[in-house]
Amino acid sequence: MKHISVAIDGPSGAGKSTLARRAAAEMGYLYVDTGAIYRTVALGALRRGVAPTDAEAVESILSDLDIRLAYNPEDGLQHMHLNGEDVTEEIRLHEISQHASKISAIPGVRAFLLELQRDLARNHDVVMDGRDIGTVVLPQAQVKIFLTASAQARAQRRFLELQQRGQQADFDTVLRDIVLRDEQDSNRPIAPLRRAEDAVLVDTTHLDLEQSLQAILTAIRGGDRE
Ligand code: C5P
Repeated sequence: MKHISVAIDGPSGAGKSTLARRAAAEMGYLYVDTGAIYRTVALGALRRGVAPTDAEAVESILSDLDIRLAYNPEDGLQHMHLNGEDVTEEIRLHEISQHASKISAIPGVRAFLLELQRDLARNHDVVMDGRDIGTVVLPQAQVKIFLTASAQARAQRRFLELQQRGQQADFDTVLRDIVLRDEQDSNRPIAPLRRAEDAVLVDTTHLDLEQSLQAILTAIRGGDRE
C-alpha cells in the first residue's frame, strides 16, 4: 500500500513541531520530528567530547550511536532513545540547538540519517518536519508545506516556550540565536533550508496557532487527493 507523506519544512521557531504534531493527530498520520534526530546525534557527540564542527571526529562516532524513535502509546509523542536511554527531555536544552545546527551541516551525518527518515515514510503515513524534507528526504511527498514567520515573531514564541519550561532565557539572545541558526541552516552547501518549488507557503507571522493549523490542514486535504 502506498503511504501518504506530508513534508513540512521551515526555519527554527516557525511552529513546525506543534503544528505538524497536531496536523498528524488530526489526519491519523505518524508525526516525525527530524530535528529531534539531529539533536540526538548532537547529544551523542557532546557526551563523547567531540566538537560538532569536527566533521571527521563526528563521522567516526556515528556507528556507535544507536538512535531510535519510540512512540508513547498514551500520548502518541515521539521519544528519542540514544543507546537505550530516553533523551527526549535532554535534547531540548538550549545548547543542544546550536550543536545540532552545526552537526547537521556534516555530510556524513545527513547521509547516516537519510535512510532512517525514508524508512519511516515507506512504512507509515507521515507528517515529517525538518529543513530538507520536501527537497531531499521525501522529494516525492504528496504534500509539501514551507512554514515560516518573521525572525522577531519566531524569537518571541521560542522565548515564551523556554520561559514556560522554566528555562533561563533572554529575548535578545534567543533572537540572535534564531538569526544565526537561519544563516547556518540556509547557507550550508548540503541540503540547505529552502522552499521546494512545489511547496505551499504558510507564513504564520500574523496567524495564531488555530489559524496556522487550519492553513496546514487545508493544504494537506487539498494535496493528498491529487
Ligand atoms: O527543528 P530543530 O530546531 O529541532 O532542529 C535542530 C537543528 O537540526 C536545526 O537547526 C537544523 O540545523 C537541523 N536539522 C536539519 N535538517 C532537518 C531537521 C533539523 O538540518 N531535517
